[in-house]
Amino acid sequence: MVNSKTCPLNESKPHIPMNYINMAIDKIRQDNTKKLNCIWLETSSCFGEIIALLDGENPSIVSLLTDMVNMTFFNSIMADSGEAAYERLLNTVNSNEPYIFIVSGAIPLKDEGRYTIIANYKGKVITALEAVRSFAPKASYIIAAGTCTTYGGPTAARPNVSEAVPLDRIIDAPVINVPGCPVHPVWILGTIGHIINFGMPELDELNRPVTFFGVTIHERCPRRSFFDYNVFATSFGQPECMFKLGCRGPITKTTCPLNRWDESDSWPIGANTTCIGCSAPGFPDLMEPFIRY
Ligand code: SF4
Repeated sequence: MVNSKTCPLNESKPHIPMNYINMAIDKIRQDNTKKLNCIWLETSSCFGEIIALLDGENPSIVSLLTDMVNMTFFNSIMADSGEAAYERLLNTVNSNEPYIFIVSGAIPLKDEGRYTIIANYKGKVITALEAVRSFAPKASYIIAAGTCTTYGGPTAARPNVSEAVPLDRIIDAPVINVPGCPVHPVWILGTIGHIINFGMPELDELNRPVTFFGVTIHERCPRRSFFDYNVFATSFGQPECMFKLGCRGPITKTTCPLNRWDESDSWPIGANTTCIGCSAPGFPDLMEPFIRY
């Protein structure tokens, strides 16, 4: 039986993204390179990106905050609050220094964006819609973190009462799309690591970094040999290919089989459940039903 423990790809776990991250940290430490300012703006989502980032061990959020960037604004984890927090954001944008602008969440359009308010400043309500329109154009790099930001995701799923849309529908600037529900911390920190080392990463036709989104899960799946020999699981818990149970691995491009989650062997197929295509365009509406019997 081929499983995640015996998969030869296990040996090559997340080398490339970790190299980007470690090289970036070394570069900043050794060259005394000034860290780029970074704004992480949470808009309309479940905040899964933040939970995943907080749960990540290698790389950890500590690496991001202490060794990679100068994080000046981050809704969920910053110490400042209220107008002081918003002023830190404004100061970063108006400083004329380069900054990375990371957005996690879709952008509601209905009622002029009032379904997601990110600040009340000097008596004025600031919507996510207004914020991304104001802060994205001056950014050196714009990263859409998570499937809600890249494609609309669960936030824009039927019936989409807030009329939410992905970030690149709002702004007229290059966006690096890093999908995932939630996005894996390695993909986000690896993208930042690439920016620090080499600048803009190579992107595919959907503006995703090819390092993380160039190959389908299906091509690297430990159960692939079962698929090739037409041996399929008929219920969960069986070790064979789960294609006939509805697996979306053949149309979902991520490095899940290599990176796994939470510093463990845990990932959907490794845990005997189908890939539900959480990183694919159209998730969740176009990926349903998640399970077929
Ligand atoms: S269909 Fe799913 S379980 Fe089967 S080999 Fe492809 S990714 Fe793996």
